[in-house]
Amino acid sequence: MYFIDVILPIPLKQAFTYQVNRDEAVFLKRGMRVAVPFGKSKVYTGIVYGIYNDNPPGYDTKHIDQILDEQPIVTETQLKHWEWMSAYYMCTLGEVIRAALPGAFLLESDTMVGLRKDVSKHNIDEASEENTSVSESNTIDESEFTDDEFLVYEALQHQSQLHINDIRSILDRKNVVKVLEGLIQKKVIEVQEEVHEQYTPKLKRYLQLAPPYTSEEKLKELLDSLSRAPKQREVLMNLFMLSAQTKKPVDAILLQKKSNTSAAVVKTLVEKKILEEYLIQKDRVEYTGGAVSETKQLNEAQTLALSEVKTHFETKDVVLLHGVTSSGKTEVYVRLIEEMIATGKQVLYMLPEIALTTQLISRLQNYFGETVAVYHSKYSVNERVEVWQNVLESKPKAQIVIGARSSLFLPFSNLGLIIVDEEHEPSFKQYNPSPRYHARDSAVVLGNIHNAKLVLGSATPSLESYHNSETGKYGLVRLTKRFGNVLMPDISLIDIKEKHRKKLMTGHFSDTLLEAMREAISNKEQIILFQNRRGYSPVVECTTCGVSPQCPNCDVSLTYHQYKKQLRCHYCGYHMAMLRSCMACGSETLDTKGFGTEQIETELNHLFPDKVVARMDQDTTRGKNAYGKLIERLENEEIDILVGTQMLAKGLDFRNIGLVGVMNADTLLYFPDFRAHERSFQLLQQVSGRAGRTEKRGKVLIQTYNPHHLILQQVSSNEYEAMYKQEAEERYQYKYPPYYRTIRITFKDKSYDKMDKASIWFGRALEQKLKEHVLGPETPPVGRVRNLYITNVLVKIPKQQSLAKTKGYISNVQRSFNTIKEFSTVRVSIDVDNY
Ligand code: ADP
Ligand code: ZN
Ligand code: ZN
Repeated sequence: MYFIDVILPIPLKQAFTYQVNRDEAVFLKRGMRVAVPFGKSKVYTGIVYGIYNDNPPGYDTKHIDQILDEQPIVTETQLKHWEWMSAYYMCTLGEVIRAALPGAFLLESDTMVGLRKDVSKHNIDEASEENTSVSESNTIDESEFTDDEFLVYEALQHQSQLHINDIRSILDRKNVVKVLEGLIQKKVIEVQEEVHEQYTPKLKRYLQLAPPYTSEEKLKELLDSLSRAPKQREVLMNLFMLSAQTKKPVDAILLQKKSNTSAAVVKTLVEKKILEEYLIQKDRVEYTGGAVSETKQLNEAQTLALSEVKTHFETKDVVLLHGVTSSGKTEVYVRLIEEMIATGKQVLYMLPEIALTTQLISRLQNYFGETVAVYHSKYSVNERVEVWQNVLESKPKAQIVIGARSSLFLPFSNLGLIIVDEEHEPSFKQYNPSPRYHARDSAVVLGNIHNAKLVLGSATPSLESYHNSETGKYGLVRLTKRFGNVLMPDISLIDIKEKHRKKLMTGHFSDTLLEAMREAISNKEQIILFQNRRGYSPVVECTTCGVSPQCPNCDVSLTYHQYKKQLRCHYCGYHMAMLRSCMACGSETLDTKGFGTEQIETELNHLFPDKVVARMDQDTTRGKNAYGKLIERLENEEIDILVGTQMLAKGLDFRNIGLVGVMNADTLLYFPDFRAHERSFQLLQQVSGRAGRTEKRGKVLIQTYNPHHLILQQVSSNEYEAMYKQEAEERYQYKYPPYYRTIRITFKDKSYDKMDKASIWFGRALEQKLKEHVLGPETPPVGRVRNLYITNVLVKIPKQQSLAKTKGYISNVQRSFNTIKEFSTVRVSIDVDNY
């Protein structure tokens, strides 16, 4: 008898045992996928974890359905890393695998598949439009199908999606996973639960004279006819001059700049059909070849930083690169990458959110051409599987991988360098679902397994990483000046309490901010305004009885969104039409308190009616590519003033931002979380860092009711060190990271009572051994979300106490807890190093 242990992507236990025959046992290797039956009618795809020929487990085993791979798709190194993850973050290997493998590798009975959109369109259109060329859609060659593939393809012509179990009955057999994989590979079907946004190509605008005017004579006539439109004339003269040398269409922004005019004037000329507009595709993600440029010559500070990094690497594996915004960290990474790939090794470049980094992707592709691959969970199934295979086979075209946190699961075999950029970003921590891993910390372990070096980079390092550099665990390298003699922005605090008293506020704008905005505008500079709340005004309150409308599912007040005239819950998405009168007392005295991005936008439209105002928050960036378009408009200087939430803070490099305004810093400072001060410092510094990235010194104005708050003082004087010392002291005193580790255990239930009892039981059990290091249960700021009551127990672990033993103890308590019938509905989740 032969058996294999299989890891299934479910949170039940580490591995499940199945039977195989002798041939299968010989063929199979760890890391290959098999399709296996589970329960009464389910099928799962799992990873082979062990193969042996006696020692049957104490229960009846089923035979596997099918072997899916000829070679392992998961390597031993990956398994090692994932075992660490499962142990460290207290989850099953199956949960890690679910997070690690692209969905297309894990087909199972619940998976829904459908025809790919480009395919179905082609086929439907075929009847009506005869033989239109379908360059966009992918043409299917039905003759390449196997019989089974054809049957599935045909079924999907009639039904938009099918369950794997449906397909089993269509094909009248159990083993269908391989058939579906074939169809995925042939780009016919896709897994439907996938939400993916494809990146549309970035378009660059060019202009040229419309054909009727190209002769000198006609142009002269045209210029004469425009004698009363001097601005338009100016544009044409400039166009003529610019294209005289190149005879090519002219970059629209360049033209606008040279003519010293607005986008509106250019637009008028296009509308009058005097100019022709070209949109030339500048691919963001897919590299289409072209000249690869030399890396930049480093300046003195960068050269020094680079050599310091390398010196540290002689004795340490991790270096923290603390470089102020725009100091040229990226160029230092680029040099390290260059040297690493020359040795033939792989490089992983991690970023907090890939959608935010189109700028970086083109920068790296510019240097490294097609060796750069991009990996992201929002990519389509095929793209992800492709990158996976390329990395697995150590192909040159995936030698450098740029990705968000999930990229650390790729099958690297020869990793030499990992860069974690913006290492302080909380979005490196996955909150839900399990594994609740921190990608930066997991990358350090990954580096360890590969014997690779790591650079963590940030202008505002996390307290954890900075602490590690203080203790000597990480090397520390600094870049204290911006590249090219650009000054750090000039940051001032504005006391809006006083401004209110002196009646110097217009809506939410102080006179100082308005004045600075007018100045920036007259200098033709763009402005960014930061308001860390979306919506019109967070809370609607009745001034008669004081009641404000609440979400029925969560313990929060609903937020007013003016654009849709709705009240919305930011936790569960519940929404209703804005009320006319108070639900409690019927009075019509509803007032709005606080303010969000939308209200700022409205105020701006009144204050600056002839300027283009845009808004960047979760509501305006939901749609496909909406984010990219906003960035592009900003880059193209089609936006004068951009209002946004913290999305603005993330590593964007714009050339023409003269002023950054923070509408109200106080909401950040008083957030109930032990990291609130650190976060405020980071966010405000990062937002400020968007200002003045060219020669002219940028200006930052921060409005606040508490101008004497220590953190704001430190932000305005750029004192990271002081902030670090102060915060570290508090963390030490109150027993928080980096001095103590924390594990948060969350309890959720529909019944308040059960949630309460369960958490108390669990907390007491923990206290028996962990004593005063158990805190709570304590209700979080929002105590009910989606109809589930929530409470937390926090375990603090001092440095000298064994982490593994503590976790072992928590697991034991959880096992006993799980046997208690009364608590069977209570959902327990464990978050190690919680954020
Ligand atoms: P950071 O990553 O520290 O925010 P960047 O690497 O984005 O800084 O650099 C800021 C700006 O300075 C970018 O526009 C970049 O192109 C430019 N820059 C940085 N280093 C150099 C260099 N050595 N030569 C020319 N330009 C540079
Ligand atoms: Zn009322
Ligand atoms: Zn809600």
